[in-house]
Amino acid sequence: MAFTPCAVHGALYRGGANTLFIRLVNGATSVGGKLQACADCTTVLLEWFEKHISKVSEGDTFYDFPRSLACANCGGDLGEHPNALFVNAYPRGKSESQWYGQVCNKCVDAVIEDLHLSVTA
Ligand SMILES: [Zn+2]
Ligand SMILES: [Zn+2]
Repeated sequence: MAFTPCAVHGALYRGGANTLFIRLVNGATSVGGKLQACADCTTVLLEWFEKHISKVSEGDTFYDFPRSLACANCGGDLGEHPNALFVNAYPRGKSESQWYGQVCNKCVDAVIEDLHLSVTA
């Protein structure tokens, strides 16, 4: 039983926490950090990563990934000074995975909201 609420849905939950480190970096500034979430919310986040960004590694396996020139969120041009999205996920009972993508400046707010970066610690 977890004693801290899930950072994503805000309520207590059964089972241990899943830890994710999600950081959106633009030059010297970054948003995000550590997110501790229940299993269901972690599954939703992992599905977002699968759909939008590239898996860099899982466990001891590293993947070649194409260097994307498109925004991970809208699929459009990255434009000037795109944001880099770095994720380390530690889902309970599964291998650690790392993800990488780039986000255009128009999509920053949407990605912060979708990935709950405003509640990270
Ligand atoms: Zn949750
Ligand atoms: Zn975009």
